[in-house]
Amino acid sequence: MAKCIFCKIIKREMPSYKLLETEHSYAFLDIFPLSKGHSLVIPKSHAEFFHELSDESVADLSQVTKKVANAVIAATGETQYNILQNNGARAHQVVKHVHFHIIPKPEADSQQG
Ligand code: 5GP
Ligand code: ZN
Repeated sequence: MAKCIFCKIIKREMPSYKLLETEHSYAFLDIFPLSKGHSLVIPKSHAEFFHELSDESVADLSQVTKKVANAVIAATGETQYNILQNNGARAHQVVKHVHFHIIPKPEADSQQG
């Protein structure tokens, strides 16, 4: 999709800090991290909602998300984290291209929930 910022990142029309790439998925660091290592995993083919994805894409995204979780744990030393995936504005989705957040939860953050 021409105006989508995540499609532009995939096409290298916008910069990103790439973590991992497969035929179907792309993983990179979040530009406004909620904690050190906050990463995003997206399908290469544009879709706004999770339920629109092909089974093939879901399977690949799942495997890439696990690999990125392990890479984030190795890089940050944090073994506790959230995986979030928002669908629709009421569900706090801002970027309308499916994405999984991997957000490390360091001990210092634990009192903030
Ligand atoms: P949402 O609220 O849609 O689930 O989250 C969108 C995420 O995308 C946010 O965490 C935001 O910081 C991140 N983001 C938005 N624009 C960019 C960008 O241009 N580059 C990167 N790396 N992350 C972005
Ligand atoms: Zn897109």
